[in-house]
Amino acid sequence: MLRLETVSVQYGPVRAVRDLDLAAGAGALIALLGPNGAGKTSTIAAISGLVPATGRIMLAGEDISRLPVEDRIKRGIAVAPEGRRIFANLTVAENLRMGAALRRDATGVRQDTDRYLSLFPVLGERINQHAGTLSGGEQQMLAIARAMMSRPKVLLLDEPSLGLAPLIVARIFDFIGQLKAEGLTVILVEQNAAQAMRFADQVCVLASGRVSYRGSPADLAGADVMKLYLGDAGM
Ligand code: ATP
Repeated sequence: MLRLETVSVQYGPVRAVRDLDLAAGAGALIALLGPNGAGKTSTIAAISGLVPATGRIMLAGEDISRLPVEDRIKRGIAVAPEGRRIFANLTVAENLRMGAALRRDATGVRQDTDRYLSLFPVLGERINQHAGTLSGGEQQMLAIARAMMSRPKVLLLDEPSLGLAPLIVARIFDFIGQLKAEGLTVILVEQNAAQAMRFADQVCVLASGRVSYRGSPADLAGADVMKLYLGDAGM
């Protein structure tokens, strides 16, 4: 479904991502782990088109590397960004509509809205409330639901657990697991390695823009995660 071939991101003299290869089939979840500054967010931004990248990005067999963000969304890439970035001054309902802004199937949009409101009843209860007044956990639910409103094939999730209580994190990950079970491909950036590995098919540890470790969660369970983070694992 999604394939990255030697993708690199450079900001002036800083090489944030170096020759990254990644492949995720339909319904697969790849967890991108690694310390601050490893290049995880830049990888997500390269896939969504928010930053320029070299190399090739293929979505369902089509090269999307040179397409603008809007065309990537139309083809099935969605992002729930770090820090949620919900529209604080818009209501929950308006935020969800923004997620569906490029769709023309009004009936489908209504069905999807109902679906996410029933999956997250707390959002339904706050449908006309300004999103800025929601709790952190509720805002994260809204950020994911908003991303899902574009009916993506691939969901890019940047640190959904950031700053949230363990119980809320577990609920959010259960939801991600459900979406994956329905066939959604997920690229998940996470500091919370334990939660990420609950649903991951593949774990990819980045260090200084390169892959320092790649394997299944079971393989990683036997490895010294701290060493990997510190870059002792080699290539
Ligand atoms: P974190 O977990 O802290 O978000 P990360 O793994 O997501 O880290 P990136 O945010 O992708 O890492 O950053 C990778 C490198 O690129 C870092 O050295 C960072 O300082 C640099 N960088 C990121 N964005 C920019 C930018 N817009 N301009 C210049 N350098 C940047």
